[in-house]
Amino acid sequence: MQAALHPYIDVHAHIGQTVSRSRPIGQDLARYMARMATSSVHAAIISPTAGGPQSRGVLDTKAQNLEIAEACKAFPDRFPVGLGIVEVRHQRAGVDELERSIREDGLLGFMCHPILSGHALEEELNPFLEVVHAHGGLCLLHLSGTSAKIAAYAKRYPDIAFIIGHASMSREVEQDIVEHCGSADNIWLDLAQKPDPEEDLWTLHELVSRVSLSRVMFGSDAPYYDYRRVQHLIENSSLSESEVVQVASGNATILIRKFKPHWELPMAAVEAPTGHPDNDIWITNGRRLT
Ligand SMILES: [Zn+2]
Repeated sequence: MQAALHPYIDVHAHIGQTVSRSRPIGQDLARYMARMATSSVHAAIISPTAGGPQSRGVLDTKAQNLEIAEACKAFPDRFPVGLGIVEVRHQRAGVDELERSIREDGLLGFMCHPILSGHALEEELNPFLEVVHAHGGLCLLHLSGTSAKIAAYAKRYPDIAFIIGHASMSREVEQDIVEHCGSADNIWLDLAQKPDPEEDLWTLHELVSRVSLSRVMFGSDAPYYDYRRVQHLIENSSLSESEVVQVASGNATILIRKFKPHWELPMAAVEAPTGHPDNDIWITNGRRLT
């Protein structure tokens, strides 16, 4: 598959290991940067993988958050925004860790994967959202049922920018998001994963005709899938050249600059770390996009 033509910002990339599934899957920073280097992804919003190690409880979460913070400090041009992770069973200790990661590590909010963290996107997440709201930050939420739950959060916490992951997962998901979140200007959408190949009508054009194009962004959901397929679909969609640029990087640049006003998207490709041969870095075990 050919490299994408445009520079991309990936607003949905996970670093670390998912060990709560069989087989475990993950990527370290070097592996992700090797993927970035060969897929025209010039920058990313990174967060830990959900379902990570928890043998030490919130201390493991702290280690995951620190890994993201260190990546952001090491490569501020490539990773201008980092997010932590939350687990419902950590309760107050988890809220305290989130607060610490924002104050001490400079993370801007959190990523939540309800299926793997135990959340239901209901009232149990409010203590975490209150922390992010107080700092005016960003949350990447994976869906759990209807997106009406996220629309309710967006209304309650207007100073948080929300990204809904996988807005393009299926026609049903898209329709639900359009219905509940289409007019909320603090809800952004990412296109991580396309529908299964048998869902032959990828509805990117339809999606951007029904929600504001300015809030639709590329996301990879790395390390789970070969996201180059989504880039290929964006490049070859019926969107205009300027619309493709908006989805690939323009909209994400505007979102990132809400928090880092002076940040510029690097125009040079990421330099690939050594030790990751090309035929190895794209091996994934996701059913989609393989
Ligand atoms: Zn994800």
